[in-house]
Amino acid sequence: MPNVLITGASRGIGAATAGIFAQEGWDVALNYNRGRPEALALSAALSGLGIRALPVQADVSRPEEARRLVQEAETALGPLDAIVCNAGIALPQRLLADTTPEEWRELMSTDLDGVFYTLKAAIPGLVRRQRGAIVTVSSMWGVTGGSCEAPYSAAKAGVIGLTQALAKELGPSQIRVNCVAPGVIDTDMNASLAPEDLAALGEEAPLCRTGRPEEVAEAICFLASDRASFITGQVLRVDGGMVI
Ligand code: NAP
Repeated sequence: MPNVLITGASRGIGAATAGIFAQEGWDVALNYNRGRPEALALSAALSGLGIRALPVQADVSRPEEARRLVQEAETALGPLDAIVCNAGIALPQRLLADTTPEEWRELMSTDLDGVFYTLKAAIPGLVRRQRGAIVTVSSMWGVTGGSCEAPYSAAKAGVIGLTQALAKELGPSQIRVNCVAPGVIDTDMNASLAPEDLAALGEEAPLCRTGRPEEVAEAICFLASDRASFITGQVLRVDGGMVI
């Protein structure tokens, strides 16, 4: 049975991704930070599908916790076949001039440094086995930049650069590295938006709606699977056509 470590799997896109992997027979390590009850409930539900679902608390913005996360996942499930770097936060929308250095650092440390710490810990094992797949989660704002979303856009653009560099670095080791760039998805991340504002954002996409976490999860699982065996270094936009 293949296995996957998913960061930020207690809610939203990460939880939906865990669900699809589990349905496809993968063992899953479910990382969470603060959402222990959600992660435990998801783990119990997915275990019911006959796979192993391991909840692991770790704050991926801390290098020692990211290292422990990878170790705990490998100890419990065996050498990792795939890693999904999904954990992320967003700041309230505001001008860059009104963003504090502390806010900038908090965003960067989770959305970009967290990917670095997790992959730094996981890559040596993948290279030893000369196989594996990595999927990172960026955003359409990482592709285009978003007004009043400068720190988030910068972090998510960094995730794309990291993905593309690693695809080149790890390709000779038969490790594929791809990225998904979601558009506006119905998760807690957008809960601060008024429903009419969220709907209006969705209307801007050619498909005229917001996306569901499961729709992003399908793309992540495809890129991690052997069905994508000749695909690496790509950014797959799952955004209803918002960025064309
Ligand atoms: P969400 O519902 O707010 O869930 C965020 C997840 O990340 C939670 O499981 C949370 O864990 C985890 N997380 C946050 N900080 C963490 C940390 N320091 N260490 C470990 N886990 C941490 O968000 P989402 O919409 O599913 O977002 C998932 C990813 O998609 C993010 O990278 C986000 O930037 C990206 N994305 C989302 C959208 C969108 O419209 N929703 C669009 C583009 C990109 P706990 O709850 O356990 O703390």
